Amino acid sequence: MARLGSWIEPFPEGIYVAPADIWVDPSRPKPRALVTHGHGDHARGGHGAVWATAETLAIMECRHGPQPGMAMAYGEVARLGDVDVSLVPAGHVLGSAQIVLEHGGERVVVSGDYKRRPDPTCAPFEPVPCDIFITEATFALPVFRHPDTGSEIDRLLERLHDNPDRCVLVGAYALGKAQRLILELRRRSHHDPIYIHGALQRLCDLYEEQGVSLGDVRPATGVGKDALRGTIVLCPPGALNDRWSRRLPDPITAMASGWMRVRQRARQRNVELPLIISDHADWDELTRTIADLAPREVWVTHGREDALIHWCALRQIKAKELNLVGYEDEDD
Ligand SMILES: [Zn+2]
Ligand SMILES: [Zn+2]
Repeated sequence: MARLGSWIEPFPEGIYVAPADIWVDPSRPKPRALVTHGHGDHARGGHGAVWATAETLAIMECRHGPQPGMAMAYGEVARLGDVDVSLVPAGHVLGSAQIVLEHGGERVVVSGDYKRRPDPTCAPFEPVPCDIFITEATFALPVFRHPDTGSEIDRLLERLHDNPDRCVLVGAYALGKAQRLILELRRRSHHDPIYIHGALQRLCDLYEEQGVSLGDVRPATGVGKDALRGTIVLCPPGALNDRWSRRLPDPITAMASGWMRVRQRARQRNVELPLIISDHADWDELTRTIADLAPREVWVTHGREDALIHWCALRQIKAKELNLVGYEDEDD
């Protein structure tokens, strides 16, 4: 009998599914690609044809121009070569999907990036039992336990209300984190205008077009200092300390990221108010997911593999790392 998953070939630049002649999240241009979600490290431009959710294709179009591709709805099965392929929600960002591959009586699930906790901007992660679970491991250390999102949002609102003469400037990734933050604030009854850096505009518009309404969101550019006192302003992390932020009214610098658990990362960016809000599974979510799916093997794509592989070994689950390159922390 052939080795389990012998038809799935990991290469440094991505996972090749030979009987479908297609790559999953390749970091180099390929003739045919399956893309889990729109973050830059998973969705590169320049592929011949892309299979992804309609939302992911729209995000890729927004970043890379027109995408020759096939939109797939969640749950729809496409026969590619000798493989049945379907996409199920990953709960990571709008349109994010796990890729379910079935061939020769084996089922392999490629998670892409995922999380288990609720996110008002996207469909929740759907567990699919499988023979091989190919998982990310961004926060795969027991020290990473993300707190409740609501309590982090409460801390942000408290600081805002205690400082009516200042603004709270929050660094948030343009795809996913910014929109989630806005909706989490709305859920905590914050309906005031939220001001955004120009670099967030296109993706906020795209979320709106895709049916995720964000409420009163306005460009921060051109708004006077006084009008910004007592408001929340969002910018990409790279703009937190640059010239752009100097015209804001004495900003309280915040950042929303799973890495804010690490004090040094907060200090590096001069973050006064670290908010631990992540779009990736924490240690408990990663291990719970493997327990839920009960796969025969776990393959780890990127992140901190060792602890997760050790955890699997203790439970008699075969696990290995794939050493893929080109995945970054863009989207934490
Ligand atoms: Zn990623
Ligand atoms: Zn991602």
